[in-house]
Amino acid sequence: MSSFKTLGLSQAMQANLEQLGYQQPTPVQAEAVPLALAGRDVIAMAQTGSGKTAAFGIPIVESINPQRFKVQSLVLCPTRELADQVTKALRELARAKENVKVLTLCGGVPIGPQIGSLAHGAHIVVGTPGRVDDHLRKGTLTLDGLQMLVLDEADRMLDMGFEEVVTGILSQTPARRQTLLFSATWPPAIRQLSERFQNQAGDVRVEAQAATTTIDESFYEVQPEQRVTAVAALLSRFQPVSSLVFCTTKRDCDELAAELSSLGFSALALHGDLDQRERDSALVRFANQSCTVLVATDVAARGLDIKGLPLVINAEPARDPEVHTHRVGRTGRAGEQGRAVTLCTPRHGHKISRLEAQRGEVVTWGDTDKLLAERLQPVVCAMKTLCLAGGRKDKVRPGDVMGALTGEAGIPGAAVGKIDLFDFQCFVAVESEWAALALSRLEKGKVKGRKFRVRYA
Ligand code: AMP
Repeated sequence: MSSFKTLGLSQAMQANLEQLGYQQPTPVQAEAVPLALAGRDVIAMAQTGSGKTAAFGIPIVESINPQRFKVQSLVLCPTRELADQVTKALRELARAKENVKVLTLCGGVPIGPQIGSLAHGAHIVVGTPGRVDDHLRKGTLTLDGLQMLVLDEADRMLDMGFEEVVTGILSQTPARRQTLLFSATWPPAIRQLSERFQNQAGDVRVEAQAATTTIDESFYEVQPEQRVTAVAALLSRFQPVSSLVFCTTKRDCDELAAELSSLGFSALALHGDLDQRERDSALVRFANQSCTVLVATDVAARGLDIKGLPLVINAEPARDPEVHTHRVGRTGRAGEQGRAVTLCTPRHGHKISRLEAQRGEVVTWGDTDKLLAERLQPVVCAMKTLCLAGGRKDKVRPGDVMGALTGEAGIPGAAVGKIDLFDFQCFVAVESEWAALALSRLEKGKVKGRKFRVRYA
């Protein structure tokens, strides 16, 4: 078993990892970190949940010289959510060193404040290709001091059509840079990208998640018109506090979420047609457990970092075995028991055959009649989310909201859950039985001496 002590890390980093509760490196970390610390390029096949962020985050932080006021590392991510998560993880890892500045550059928000932040200097930039490219064109970001470049979820960036932008960015970085490429899958386009932009990259491939062994997987054959009933029956049977249901199209997501809601489940759809506000709201509510079911497309669910998801349902089989493995890998993380159920109409039987061929073993089919006879019992939602029409830009802080609720309003602190602050709004999770009171008190009262509109999210 490997240990962080043998990877050649600084004392400060070792102490920081201990603080973060990382007792031993994950397989991808054990292989990728020493290569990267030795200055090698790395191409790693690793999925969300494998510890890939720290696999590049640790070498990045170790390589930063805080006294050099230049962007020394750049991490490109396919989505804003992933960029936010990576930034958060890097800030935690950067506690090992004083005064390291990490900046996120993503689209969907005004560019002005980002230009201001860049002018103040940053050592590490995490961003989506489009917005990073915008800054390069404007000259507000320069990469002449770049030492390390990371492509995170590179396959997804290519799938999303970012190839040209990414290669454009790569060509504007110093040739001497170190390049780390992380990808969940291994299509030819990824190999080509590596050949073009990497130099004798060390190949890191870890066994596809040891966690799969703790996932209880089952399959049910259903007719198309039985799909909603089957999903509701699975939720009723297993009562998961959070579950992710995959559909193929945006329309299927909307329809299934609406039908589950009409049956009494707290379900939301997550797909590419939502605007940023709707997306933020859905993700916040799912994470704070005031929505128990998220019905998502593969692209929208990519990069979601929800730990310990007890149930994943494929309302339809995934496009191919790799996508299936990726979907199912979201449950049973870090050794926890997980459950994945796939519904399949007779028309899609060939997809399961392909899965069986790839695995070299047949899947287990459940008793559909028994499933459909399950008594309907919506999952009780412990929390409700209130949305306050004031945020960071209004100088609202989580403590102010907490104070307004627990002070005069008289809501017990223990009944208040996660508080998520955005630029112009703030989401507060409150235990369901206190939610109505919290809403009326917040409506009447003030936060930071000001009145803000409040509603249920
Ligand atoms: P990732 O694959 O980067 O999305 O990481 C998945 C989760 O594992 C994150 O919540 C990390 O904080 C956590 N993690 C990463 N490395 C370790 C480690 N060596 N020990 C324990 N947890 C870890």
